[in-house]
Amino acid sequence: MDILEEILEQIKKYNRIIIHRHQRPDPDAIGSQVGLAKILQASFPHKQIKVVGKQIDGLSWLGNMDDVEGEFFDDALVIVIDTANSPRIDDRRFENGAFLIKIDHHPNDDQFGDLMWVKEEASSSSELVFDFFARFKDQLTLTKEAARDLYAGIVGDTGRFMYPSTSAHTHNVVAGLMETGFDMVEVNQTLDGIPESVAHLSAYVYDNLKINSNGAAYIVLSKEVLEKFNLKDAGTAGIVSIPGRILTVKWWAIFVEQDDHSYRIRLRSKGPVINELAKKHDGGGHPLASGAKAKNLEEVNQIISELDQLA
Ligand code: AMP
Repeated sequence: MDILEEILEQIKKYNRIIIHRHQRPDPDAIGSQVGLAKILQASFPHKQIKVVGKQIDGLSWLGNMDDVEGEFFDDALVIVIDTANSPRIDDRRFENGAFLIKIDHHPNDDQFGDLMWVKEEASSSSELVFDFFARFKDQLTLTKEAARDLYAGIVGDTGRFMYPSTSAHTHNVVAGLMETGFDMVEVNQTLDGIPESVAHLSAYVYDNLKINSNGAAYIVLSKEVLEKFNLKDAGTAGIVSIPGRILTVKWWAIFVEQDDHSYRIRLRSKGPVINELAKKHDGGGHPLASGAKAKNLEEVNQIISELDQLA
């Protein structure tokens, strides 16, 4: 029995299934979470399938989170998707189920769960969910809504098919999703659209980004700046990829000041591996897309000098 058959066997065994994903979710975290839930619900209508974690207004078009009582976890199967490190799992009750499965495409640095299916070369967790469906398509049902959510996850995590994680297989998966007939144009327009506040912040980023001669770039977004644009931390998602459009920029960091004056760091690269640097500063992620934390401006400056030396 291979890992996919083992996962299906566990899914069949439990009547209650709860799907978790990481904190501060992106379209792939939510898309893979609710996409999987919709596939399982359509395939096993008698089972109770729930999704948990903080409700994210900007992504609620993909699906809403459920209110789940503590007792629901008794004798339930818990699936954690798209989350490499257990401390980042949203809703700490993931440990309260009877059986735990990890499904992910990040480097498997923190191994948790009774079963793990981790495929680093996959573009996204949404791609993995489709692969799971495709493997057992005689037993599973892919609805139009589930396909739409998985498509959104793939578009999000591949930067609209621009990142090297996009493979021929990714495009085959998209073809399989599109066969369900969901409105692809609507999804693309929703993912691409930005509020005016983010448009103004984008202009600020282009104007204030520091670019070093070796290709390293960075910007510090203080609370004051975010307040000026009437944005919170989550509003920075729309500007993370912006520096990469500048030809001379090879890798970059966006430092976002938090309420406690620590900084969230969003790291991206077109080549040099940046997740090792992220791991040194309470973070992690993919080789070309990672996140980390800095306690104060001193650590921010330390990271800026480390960024400079990455070349
Ligand atoms: P973000 O900049 O938040 O979109 O994160 C980019 C990637 O880095 C995602 O794959 C995240 O899962 C990962 N990541 C972000 N922050 C952290 C962290 N503090 N620890 C581990 N991985 C992280």
